[in-house]
Amino acid sequence: MTAASFSAVDPSTGHQFSEFPATSPAEVAEYVEDARRALAEEQDWRTPLVRAGALLRMARGVEEQAEKLAEFETRDTGKPLSQAKADVQATIRYLEYYAGSIERLEGRQIPLGPDALDYTVREPWGVCAQIIPWNYPLQVAARCAAPALAAGNAVVLKPSELASITPLRLAQIAYEAGVPQGMFHVATGDGSTGDALVRHPGVDHVTFVGSAATGAKVAEACARRLVPIELELGGKSPNLVFEDADLDKAIPAIVNGLLQNAGQSCSAGSRLLVEKTRFEEVTARVGAAFKAVKIAPGVEDPDLGPLISERQLERATSMLEHARAGGARVLGGETNDLFMNPALVTRVKLDMEIFHEEVFGPVLVAVPFEDERHAVQVANATAYGLVAGVWTRDLARAHRVASGVRAGQVFVNGFGVGGGVELPFGGMGRSGYGRGKGIDALLAYSQTKNVWVALNG
Ligand code: NAD
Repeated sequence: MTAASFSAVDPSTGHQFSEFPATSPAEVAEYVEDARRALAEEQDWRTPLVRAGALLRMARGVEEQAEKLAEFETRDTGKPLSQAKADVQATIRYLEYYAGSIERLEGRQIPLGPDALDYTVREPWGVCAQIIPWNYPLQVAARCAAPALAAGNAVVLKPSELASITPLRLAQIAYEAGVPQGMFHVATGDGSTGDALVRHPGVDHVTFVGSAATGAKVAEACARRLVPIELELGGKSPNLVFEDADLDKAIPAIVNGLLQNAGQSCSAGSRLLVEKTRFEEVTARVGAAFKAVKIAPGVEDPDLGPLISERQLERATSMLEHARAGGARVLGGETNDLFMNPALVTRVKLDMEIFHEEVFGPVLVAVPFEDERHAVQVANATAYGLVAGVWTRDLARAHRVASGVRAGQVFVNGFGVGGGVELPFGGMGRSGYGRGKGIDALLAYSQTKNVWVALNG
């Protein structure tokens, strides 16, 4: 049975601070039908400049409410306040970026000689269903909705039952900014709401951001109706540190690359692979940095807030327990309510779950490698392929490794959790398929139509 409403709970305190309704399957159907109606009726919305204007006004609306949105995000997810503020800034950037780039989504003219004119246009899919997780609710809502709306689609977005407050506010801001009624709905609820949405015959395109297990189910439902899907799933992303790396730059980036949002980021750098000559030094420095981390409720803006839920904490602690039982050495990882000290796991074998499975908590596994070839081999020894960081002063090696690692996004001498708004982002292997962000997202939310015209009378 579906709950009639959900509580918004602050994981730092366990207190409920708000609630929101569970959208019933009948209401999901109403949203999808309303979206179809809006697409059919809103003629002005077909003009890119009109959509760009609405997205820019949305950006200003988010800016005006920035402080409140960041506070809600922190309370809902537990993340440190400065990280929630950065999420709000990223949200503004998505809206501005897609407002600015939609006019450049152009077609091509294909030369066929004097007897015919041939050209292509990019057309929207129609109604886009977007299902997103709880870790970056506002930012990921904007990342999905902004390019879809820019490309001329209508959106029905389903945030996670664990974090729906800021996506709901984003929809409100959209209407205040002049996005036509019906063009952007938010359906709140759990997996059953997501399932009803994905299976609705009025949905033309699906984006799923979440775990690989749920992604596979959603993809199966889409396959039955032959509906295209973008899958942005989890990761087990490595940082590869070579002997010649600048450790003063690498260590803070590696620590932050794991601890941002308490390790609950799809692109968290959760594997540390170090050339064996510097393994002890690097792990000692990372271990010391972990010990110095300030842990507190998100509103106090610490380095590390709580995990989102009991379930998430239990997953992290049981994976650590498993690793210990298998012979790994675990430093840290102690818990207090939903707070968890960062854990550094060494003496790890490549077939251990902790090495190849996503924990989604502040847990870093460290493994030494012999040489460049071995480094790439170890990096690719998981089914995931989302992000990788390469740390070396040898430019040629950096490019070789970037080419060899299986990842949708590679950073050289840096590591960007979530990357930039402009950079195509998505996975290989178990991390999914399709690309979000950047111009790639505009391509993903539109399809090519080819038009051939006879010119010979
Ligand atoms: P999840 O897969 O449990 O849930 C994701 C969403 O799917 C939620 O909104 C949930 O209610 C919905 N859902 C659940 N069952 C469904 C069903 N049968 N049909 C339709 N929808 C359903 O993931 P989560 O725990 O919310 O998030 C954590 C996961 O998300 C991690 O694996 C993380 O790596 C991934 N993630 C990926 C990215 C990316 O861009 N690659 C970004 C953020 C998070």
